[in-house]
Amino acid sequence: MDKDFREEFTEVIKFTPPLYKQRYQFVKDLVEKYKPKKVADLGCADCRLLWMLKFCSCIEVLAGLDICASVMKEKMHTLSPLPVDYLQPSERSLTVTLHHGSIAHKDPCMLGFDLVTCIELIEHLEESELKKFPEVVFGFMAPSMVVISTPNSEFNPLLPGVVLYRHPDHKFEWNQAQFQSWALDTAKCYDYSVEFTGVGHPPPGMENVGFCTQIGVFVRKYPQTSESLPSEEHPEAVYKTVFKAVYPSLKDEKYLQNAVVSEVIFTAQNIKHHLMSKLEKDDDDDPERKSRVQPSVDYFPDYLRKLVVDQTLEPFVSGNEVCIPLVTIFSFPKVNRLCGTFEKLCKLIAGKVPLSSDGSAVVFNTEHE
Ligand code: SAH
Repeated sequence: MDKDFREEFTEVIKFTPPLYKQRYQFVKDLVEKYKPKKVADLGCADCRLLWMLKFCSCIEVLAGLDICASVMKEKMHTLSPLPVDYLQPSERSLTVTLHHGSIAHKDPCMLGFDLVTCIELIEHLEESELKKFPEVVFGFMAPSMVVISTPNSEFNPLLPGVVLYRHPDHKFEWNQAQFQSWALDTAKCYDYSVEFTGVGHPPPGMENVGFCTQIGVFVRKYPQTSESLPSEEHPEAVYKTVFKAVYPSLKDEKYLQNAVVSEVIFTAQNIKHHLMSKLEKDDDDDPERKSRVQPSVDYFPDYLRKLVVDQTLEPFVSGNEVCIPLVTIFSFPKVNRLCGTFEKLCKLIAGKVPLSSDGSAVVFNTEHE
């Protein structure tokens, strides 16, 4: 390449957003498109990609692996649930685990993943590790999809300050032909297909240089996963788990119960509030009405009235108690969606919400909120 031409570009090449963010975004876009439930990031370093992925609502299991425990521990706290996750548990379940170990070794905790990402990992592997990598990732883990990114050495002359490799820990950097040949051989050997793309466009007129980061997206051609291996064929665990977070989820009965109890009380209080204010207003308009405490559905605003279909299910005041039938509460969309069945509603609120003696209605005192 002509030196002057090259220098002209080294001044201007600056990726926006930065290249590492473009790589993470590439993975995130793939996740949004293919919706894998279980994702493992190999060579996860400071867990930044994992942190981004925890917001993808399709993911239920996230795992990270790195040979360097200290780099993983730096920011692993960012993978812990936040107070808001406890206040409003999500409908999906999510478990995030970090393992300390080498991709050169097989560990059963790496089985059953749908997507495995290896972002800027392979160029950090020693020759012996790189040799074992295909068998561990494609042969043993055998996920439906693997994403591998690595520097494209053809781009290096355009990057300011790069003499041999982009990072002192890189053991090699491949040009496009080298990466593609390795990837195609690996794909063929383990029955995957592979497509090549990348992030970090070359400057106009230099398209033959290729992307700054080259990416191979591998898709497994056969249907089953290694999870179907008989358990005696599983290797022994060799990785050390350094972090595990189980996010609160409505799939967990404990959190579901909290959510249902709060929603039932909120709904019942709302109904009581409308009922009491309507009764008060009518008492003011017609003092003789005080003795007639059974309201009609007309007492409710439109959105409540639509829900109180059967008039025998109307809330009513008896003495100093307001009774709100459970069937009415169950007809509210949020309660209904949370519980699924009326039986489940009864089961979840038993002993947690004040009920009438036959258990058919929520009972509140007329005085207190
Ligand atoms: N994927 C991250 C980090 C890339 S740097 C990112 O895109 O930002 C490569 C990472 O691979 C480092 O954190 C390094 O500790 C890790 N690594 C190197 N050799 C490894 C091996 N044999 N097994 C697992 N991780 C390894």
